[in-house]
Amino acid sequence: EIKYPEYLKKVQTYQPGKPVSELQRELGLNEIVKLASNENPFGCSLSVKKAVERYATQINRYPDGGAYYLRQALSQFLEIAPDQIIFGNGSNEIIDMIGRVFLSDGSEALFFEGSFVVYRLIAQISGGRYREIPLECDFSRNLEKMLESISERTKVIFIDNPCNPTGFANKREEMNEFIKNVPDNVIVVLDEAYFEYAKPHGVPDGIDYIRRINPDIPEKNVIVLRTFSKAYGLAGLRIGYGVARKEIIQILEKVRQPFNTNALAQIAALEALKDQQFVQFSVEENEKGKQFFYEEFERRNIRFVPTFANFIMFHAHTAEELYQKLLHQGVIVRPAFGFRDYLRVSIGTEEENIRFFEALDKAGYSCR
Ligand code: PMP
Repeated sequence: EIKYPEYLKKVQTYQPGKPVSELQRELGLNEIVKLASNENPFGCSLSVKKAVERYATQINRYPDGGAYYLRQALSQFLEIAPDQIIFGNGSNEIIDMIGRVFLSDGSEALFFEGSFVVYRLIAQISGGRYREIPLECDFSRNLEKMLESISERTKVIFIDNPCNPTGFANKREEMNEFIKNVPDNVIVVLDEAYFEYAKPHGVPDGIDYIRRINPDIPEKNVIVLRTFSKAYGLAGLRIGYGVARKEIIQILEKVRQPFNTNALAQIAALEALKDQQFVQFSVEENEKGKQFFYEEFERRNIRFVPTFANFIMFHAHTAEELYQKLLHQGVIVRPAFGFRDYLRVSIGTEEENIRFFEALDKAGYSCR
């Protein structure tokens, strides 16, 4: 018998889905509409594709371990210093670094019920503890309740804003109050994976707490996570970043693998950043898609949670059955982890969104 730490025995291994092409073969379908992973349905910027192709001749070389050019560009774009940024193999990897650095001594992480599933996973595999703070009945999050829940053991608070899978986001004023009042020895991780989609709707830009834009809010230990996987359309390349004050970044850098972000990802992210038009297009299309989803759900009397992101959580009293029925018509959605009677659907292209509702109707799901 192989011995390994007790706390790892409880961990449920992440179960990857089957490749789309394999599902297509199994189900005998011509076409699959994947609305399962909150990806950008419009692909990525054309200039990214060209740059990646150009770089292909150099993949025998190791990547730049310091991500020099990307760091410079991002530092200018975000108006923060280059040494206030850390890059990860997806922002997931930075959550992992945070767990290893701050939770492995048995410290406690707090997050709301139904938060991004990786927080719990990382708290578990790093040997830390965690507590989940209940949601309000409409799935909103009470940040005062979070403040009241802080204990002596609490080291990290993870807040995905917007939240995956509910799509809920706390507004700027409540977040300002929360940050003001959070104790200095606690690290607040604001996970803004969907920031670009949420930005037009009064959500806080967490980096403002690091830029010290508002003199009424004292300097706190805030780490903001962002990603190139969503609005920038680079999910397959795995690149994201964290922003914090220099001292925190230096600590996280201790556990970063030397070549954690690959060369193609760095090149792609740099080009993607330059093409803000593509991001804007994606966000605008998402807004239209969101309105379409709202109207179509309302027409069918299906309950949904208003979203700040590029996905929507909706009620399905037969969630598992409906999931299967949609799948067999070639429409892949996702169970909303932590919410038993709900599914999560990513907002796709206009055509994909129509396909989703056609499949829903064929599955006979409506509350009328
Ligand atoms: N945070 C949240 C809230 C997410 O939904 C996701 C993606 N599912 C991530 C972080 C991770 O993104 P990535 O690792 O692709 O950067």
